[in-house]
Amino acid sequence: QPELAGDFATLMRWADTYRRLRVRTNADTPPDSKTAREFGAEGIGLCRTEHMFFDDNRIVAVRQMILADDRAGREEALAKLLPMQRDDFEGIFREMSGLPVTIRLLDPPLHEFLPREDSEFAEVAAAMGVDAKALKDRAEDLSEFNPMLGHRGCRLGITYPEIYEMQARAIFEAAIAVTTGDGDPVEPEIMIPLVATEKELSILRGHVEAVAEAVFREKGTSVPYKVGTMIELPRAAICADRIAGAADFFSFGTNDLTQTTIGISRDDASRFLDPYVKMDIFPQDPFVSLDVDGVGTLVSMGADKGRAVKPDLKIGICGEHGGDPASITFCEGLGLDYVSCSPFRVPIARLAAAQAAIAAEKQG
Ligand code: PEP
Ligand code: MG
Repeated sequence: QPELAGDFATLMRWADTYRRLRVRTNADTPPDSKTAREFGAEGIGLCRTEHMFFDDNRIVAVRQMILADDRAGREEALAKLLPMQRDDFEGIFREMSGLPVTIRLLDPPLHEFLPREDSEFAEVAAAMGVDAKALKDRAEDLSEFNPMLGHRGCRLGITYPEIYEMQARAIFEAAIAVTTGDGDPVEPEIMIPLVATEKELSILRGHVEAVAEAVFREKGTSVPYKVGTMIELPRAAICADRIAGAADFFSFGTNDLTQTTIGISRDDASRFLDPYVKMDIFPQDPFVSLDVDGVGTLVSMGADKGRAVKPDLKIGICGEHGGDPASITFCEGLGLDYVSCSPFRVPIARLAAAQAAIAAEKQG
């Protein structure tokens, strides 16, 4: 652990003896997972799977998956992606040596996957054996005025269940391969994004369970697993008691929760928030440090409502705020189980979690 050598490493070990909050990382590749472990991450709290789909040797199949106009066409594309996803997850499980790994099912704004150039349309059309013009029409049909509030997150899993089924299969096959091979036992945590209603979660949980049963039967063995949800929409926080019925864990996605609570685009905010902060309209950029009065109230409500139904519900936070010391203090106050942040913020989070625990103890 070269980055955490000497006095710094000693300080971090001391901090760990005071800390109550666990510190996980947001990582979606084996190298990032390794870096995070070297910094002391105790698991992965958010593995975003959408980044994996942009790989040069898969983007054509991904575009085929999105542009196919029937389930059979999507399944043909998904069959090409399955072995690659299985390798993705195997690599991460191995790197994490049995530590908890939360894998979030696909959550892209769909337009990011659509071809733009004629040559890209031609390439996908050739792979599908269809006319490029037909594909352009289909892409036109799929275009959205506001993709960040559109056909993304679990809505994709509801309309195209075969996408999440492929990912769940890849996760279970990878977990079994590592567990029955030379790796540490894996208990995957499958996370559903952008859930607003309990029905979305219970439908998708049903699909994941059906895939688990099928894979376990085929392989003649099983692994334990959990299914949980992001809480990143105000409705999910408000209805967290109902949503908890179908969830083994909650993870607060405070990036989207901030965006949807204060109604400011997370992608454009930095352009105009400076004067806001200077005028103390928000004491800090709310996308960096949790807006405690507004978003924080929803986080607190969501955690309380979830625990009222399931006292042992695991609850974490995986938005950018999970690596911000002031927000971590807030999470300590709520008694969350863990924070999850980017690999390079893990030491900051360890220290902040210790300081928060010490301060809480002093206050009695
Ligand atoms: C979030 O919304 O806070 C989150 C962690 O998910 P993403 O940033 O991938 O939307
Ligand atoms: Mg999100």
